[in-house]
Amino acid sequence: MRHLLSIGDLDRDDIERICARAEQFSEVSDREIKKVPALRGRTVLNLFYEASTRTRSSFELAAKRLSADVVNFAASGSSVEKGESLKDTVLTLAAHSPDAIVVRTPHAGSAALIAGWTSAAIVNAGDGKREHPTQALLDVFTLRQRLGALDGRCVWIVGDVAHSRVARSNILAFRAMGAHVTVCGPPTLIPRGIEAMGCDVRYDLDDLREADVVYALRMQRERMDQHLVPSLREYAARYQINGRRLGARQVLMHPGPVNRGVELSGEVVDSPQAVITAQVKAGVVVRMAVLYELLSGARAVEPVPLEPQLA
Ligand code: ASP
Repeated sequence: MRHLLSIGDLDRDDIERICARAEQFSEVSDREIKKVPALRGRTVLNLFYEASTRTRSSFELAAKRLSADVVNFAASGSSVEKGESLKDTVLTLAAHSPDAIVVRTPHAGSAALIAGWTSAAIVNAGDGKREHPTQALLDVFTLRQRLGALDGRCVWIVGDVAHSRVARSNILAFRAMGAHVTVCGPPTLIPRGIEAMGCDVRYDLDDLREADVVYALRMQRERMDQHLVPSLREYAARYQINGRRLGARQVLMHPGPVNRGVELSGEVVDSPQAVITAQVKAGVVVRMAVLYELLSGARAVEPVPLEPQLA
């Protein structure tokens, strides 16, 4: 694997291999000293042009736990505010010879663009509303831990699908793992033709009970240029996942950040069905697995033995 730009770059075997590696790294994360020398001497650059809490902190932790050097770049406070372009910023930071660049921008396709400007391995950490492949991998990892194999499982993705890169990556990943995916939300927030991705579409929650997994999405108001729902109150009345709608055996997921009282009620966020914190925890080990996969192969100056380090 040279870059991770889209979940579509991975097949089921790739996803299973990354999950198996993440499982090995979970053991490291449970140790008192949570570090292995697997990527010693490598440099990982985190390039974030958009807000992030979970993704940025977990990529940083993942790189550090593999003993890589980490440079964190946030557009705010940088020369971007003085007018420096994405390309010039990347070329400037590429002069530090990073082995991997983890990038998040508001622009679809930017990660692929950057891959053409530098020799570093590129990890897409969210490009506008297009994709967020490591979120999908950590969600598959979390669900497999909770439910075992996903074949035949029914996943409902509920909310603002139109502006969600998580929805796009997760539909691809869940389908690749054999799950049946339904997307649900107001017609204004479901992209036309999304069925072509192999999912069903519903505009109400009447059949939510058929879901094994309910995956709620935030209203991505930062990407909306017009009012697509009458009000958040009305949206919540029709689509909020709350104690009345969530069944006792259903698993509840959310990529964060949660807007309590909008897409989820407080009671379900804090319920035993919610695996939201487990998703965050999985983020570190899955991102360790992705960085290891990208940087320990052909780019290694010398082969990096994994097993003995983990033993
Ligand atoms: N954290 C996720 C993302 O960056 C989901 C969200 O922001 O609602 O896409």
